[in-house]
Amino acid sequence: MSQSAFPGERPDRPEEECAVFGVYAKGEDVARMACFGLQALQHRGQESAGIAVGDGETITVAKDLGLVTQVFDESTLAALDGFVAVGHARYSTSGGAASWEAAQPHISAIDDVLIALAHNGTLVNTNAIRTSLISEGVQFRSHTDSEVAAKAIGYVTQQTHHLRNGIRHAMETLEGAYAMVLASPDSLYAFRDPNGIRPLCVGRLPDDRGWVVSSETCGLDIVGAEYVRDVEPGEIVCFNDEGMHSEQGVAPRRRAACIFEYVYFARPDSVLDGMSVYQARRNMGRVIARESPVEADLVLGVPDSGVPSAMGYAAESGIPYADGIVKNRYVGRTFIQPTQAMRQLGIRLKLNPLPSVIAGKRLVVIDDSIVRGNTSKKLVDMLREAGAAEVHLRIVSPEVLWPCFYGIDTDSRDQLIAANMTNAEMCEFIGADSLAFITLEGLRDSIRANHEGFCEACFTGEYPVDIPESISKNSFLTKADFAEASGLQ
Ligand code: SF4
Repeated sequence: MSQSAFPGERPDRPEEECAVFGVYAKGEDVARMACFGLQALQHRGQESAGIAVGDGETITVAKDLGLVTQVFDESTLAALDGFVAVGHARYSTSGGAASWEAAQPHISAIDDVLIALAHNGTLVNTNAIRTSLISEGVQFRSHTDSEVAAKAIGYVTQQTHHLRNGIRHAMETLEGAYAMVLASPDSLYAFRDPNGIRPLCVGRLPDDRGWVVSSETCGLDIVGAEYVRDVEPGEIVCFNDEGMHSEQGVAPRRRAACIFEYVYFARPDSVLDGMSVYQARRNMGRVIARESPVEADLVLGVPDSGVPSAMGYAAESGIPYADGIVKNRYVGRTFIQPTQAMRQLGIRLKLNPLPSVIAGKRLVVIDDSIVRGNTSKKLVDMLREAGAAEVHLRIVSPEVLWPCFYGIDTDSRDQLIAANMTNAEMCEFIGADSLAFITLEGLRDSIRANHEGFCEACFTGEYPVDIPESISKNSFLTKADFAEASGLQ
């Protein structure tokens, strides 16, 4: 989903984060369930996949670079025997490029007992924790924040001989976004940061067969688990022989669920905090149709996330919806790059317009977001080449003005087009006839979740968890700021 429609450049979207999945089910093939769960969550990360299984005595892990279906086959799954499993699909937002060492679940030894940790989100204070653990003799194998979390949990567990103490202590120390699942040889744990930034939900298998934890409800659906509830901010949920137990690991803070999950990251068939992602996207289309109407012949959605919003826009405006952009569903995140010659030919790996639908028509095109602007420009060019008479771009997120430090790979401000250009300049750069973004109020109105506490920092710059200056220093400067600092203005 996050790959650019146009090969050879970075995708013009906030790039996804990660998926976590956990199962506790005696007598079930938990590795296979985790494999299916991760496939349902594959849109959240395509660089590596891994599953760790506990059998009461020890933990066995299999992980590698690639998509879930590339990493796991029948023989790999057959080697993962047990009754508790955690799984992870990774997009590298922290810890550098894709590498086997950074692939999760992360395995740590506490005395002679293994634990497996899978993490979605990004921690903002790992440097200090890492330095202090190294001074205590703890060794690290990667540069990921997830390893810091695993080692922080392990260190206190070793001192107190109690895994829940280790988790609780880590939650008191770690700052940032984390939705984590952890397997010991005989138990499953799920816990979430005190702001609840990244999603995490609990489901139950029918006939009391066991428990499932997933980043999104679509991961529950695929294994036939029924949604029970979300893991609350700051909560630790444990699943073992005695069932499901909850405790508050750390006091909840201001609720700050990532609002971008509804715009782009989550699958449309997921329900987050009581709100259907599909319905939220349709509502966004309706809202922007009211906020920024335009005379046109057809409404098109940029697949996939723009399509429900386009349907909402069409329903509200009375302008017919059309499938005018076709997506190649079988191009995933790939290591096979096109040649320069192919690039010059303008090959379209992911999106292709339908000239028979578009030619001579005035189009309203609905997309989820604009980060750098390059993909939008190429999209508009492509639609014009296919014969569009007019292209009016409507974006169902507000202008992305600030970087995200909580698990999404967005650029520093100098790379964000909306932080460096006016709307008119952006419209000219992209080559559209008109350009409008949904308002923040309109976006909020579209999402009727069971709480009103969202992180909206990439639109407002108001970060729910403070960002240390060492991280934010250069990321907060626009092109104009850089120019001023270097005396060019
Ligand atoms: S900054 Fe934006 S993308 Fe990041 S968590 Fe907040 S709302 Fe989500």
